[in-house]
Amino acid sequence: MELDSLYQEVILDHYKHPQHKALSPNPTVQVHHVNTSCGDEITLNLHTDGISVNNVTWDGVGCSISQASTSVVSDLVRGKTIAETLAIIDAFQAMIQSKGSDAGDEDILGDGVAFAGVAKFPARVKCALLGWMAVKDALAQSEKAQSEKNER
Ligand code: ZN
Repeated sequence: MELDSLYQEVILDHYKHPQHKALSPNPTVQVHHVNTSCGDEITLNLHTDGISVNNVTWDGVGCSISQASTSVVSDLVRGKTIAETLAIIDAFQAMIQSKGSDAGDEDILGDGVAFAGVAKFPARVKCALLGWMAVKDALAQSEKAQSEKNER
């Protein structure tokens, strides 16, 4: 594996200086995701009012790709609407599963485009997706909790 092409400056910067890596209290939803193939692990707190993502904080351990990628997504989606957030996550997933044919749109993905090179390394795709799937899962869970509340 060509580590140099993977560990770009943006990724290293997020790994060394992770954004929002401190769990905020009283989240709407907390999720815990594990990537057993690499040993990556994150806990993610989502704060949402059902319309927007108000806050995403997290804590975790693992490889630099998983931790940097979670840092990127936690910063990228805060303040976005839930619909925007899901579209961003879909765009990232499409890029990372494209085997390198989709370079990603920086206007949508921000620092997330730094992970485009990871798409060529199937073993690391789960590392890059960990935080993004955690946000998606947290949104799905909060939506489910909200609709159950409305039914009562
Ligand atoms: Zn990993």
